[in-house]
Amino acid sequence: MTKQFEKPFTQQEPISEDAIERVGEILRSGRLHRYNTIAGEVSEASLLEKEFAAWQGTKYCLATTSGGQAMQIALRTAGVKPGTKVLANAYTLAPVPGAIYATGGEPVLVEIDENWHTDIDDLRAKAKNTGAKYFILSHMRGHIVDMDAIKAVCDEFGIILIEDCAHTMGAKWKGTRSGNFGDISCFSTQTYKHINSGEGGFLITDNPEFAARAVVGSGSYMLYGSHGAIPPEDVFQKVRLDSPNCSARLDNLRAAILRDQLPNLEANVHRWNVRYHILEAGFRTSPGLSVIERKQHEEFVGSSIQFKATGIAPKDIPAFLKDCGSRGVEIKWFGGDEPVAFTSRYDSWQYLGDMDPLPNTIETLSTTCDLRIPLTFSEQDCQDIVDIVSEEMAARLNT
Ligand SMILES: *Cc1c(COP(=O)(O)O)cnc(C)c1O
Repeated sequence: MTKQFEKPFTQQEPISEDAIERVGEILRSGRLHRYNTIAGEVSEASLLEKEFAAWQGTKYCLATTSGGQAMQIALRTAGVKPGTKVLANAYTLAPVPGAIYATGGEPVLVEIDENWHTDIDDLRAKAKNTGAKYFILSHMRGHIVDMDAIKAVCDEFGIILIEDCAHTMGAKWKGTRSGNFGDISCFSTQTYKHINSGEGGFLITDNPEFAARAVVGSGSYMLYGSHGAIPPEDVFQKVRLDSPNCSARLDNLRAAILRDQLPNLEANVHRWNVRYHILEAGFRTSPGLSVIERKQHEEFVGSSIQFKATGIAPKDIPAFLKDCGSRGVEIKWFGGDEPVAFTSRYDSWQYLGDMDPLPNTIETLSTTCDLRIPLTFSEQDCQDIVDIVSEEMAARLNT
């Protein structure tokens, strides 16, 4: 009997009944907009900002409509203007180049190494050669590069660091939360991230002027005073007429959904990692598959797993994945020439114009396979996935 996997890879856990009840109350009140409050009322969006800032250990926080909008506001806030060069690691999701493009900035893409980390030497060389003063670092699929080395390059060249923590909410590097390294950091609360409000995001910073610019830039209509985690009024006085309105405010419904999930995040990180380690252990011992050994001090969130199909030629990977897919195991591949469902390689962002070739990135991605790990999967499900994937690879190795 060949094993068949039946569960969908895109099914998240339900929103709790408590959150649904709170959303119902807000709907009945009619006050969905974050600035639509009555005397003495603090909006859900403002409460969420306060709670997320406290959870993250940061001073200022802005809730936004998406992670991509948070990044665009972060870039504008930091000073990116048309023609400004922005370094970005090339292994990332399309919202990153999109955010840079939206500000008029010019991406300077940086190579990744075989562990999906930003290549520090290439970062240094490109910082030097282009004079770029901004770096948006995507912790793509939760892989956290050596942050000491990143900070050293940023310090050496006076670079403002923006972290894209879409896949590292809840993760730490040498005990510091991902997001607390950057001058500004961004998170996504879109359905497939670590807390789920359908769409949404956060921008955090400890820099008061950046915080004020970001809040005004999110479209505060001069009602910024009601926000949950902001600097004092005098900082706003300096920037309030100087930040374009991007209209990217989070609403109270989504905020209520997120407030309910935040207290469970730490426990969920543990649940993700239990599942991750089953998959990792299985793939590690399967002939033809390889996983990377993660550093002890990288406290990642295993909400997805990447492995390499090294036992077969890259040209045979699509057929291998198709066979896994027909047994219910949905695996993404970053080696394809055409972007499909949430995978895209830097060379498919054609609006950026001609990019310098990035051979190491292409090489790494040519064997990179990627699996989502939704919390709706049980530990047994993870074992079943290992069995199917390793059987399919073994069948190819034996012919
Ligand atoms: C999801 C994601 C974002 C932000 O996505 P939104 O859909 O705009 O919330 C940014 N970077 C990466 C790497 C992502 O995966």
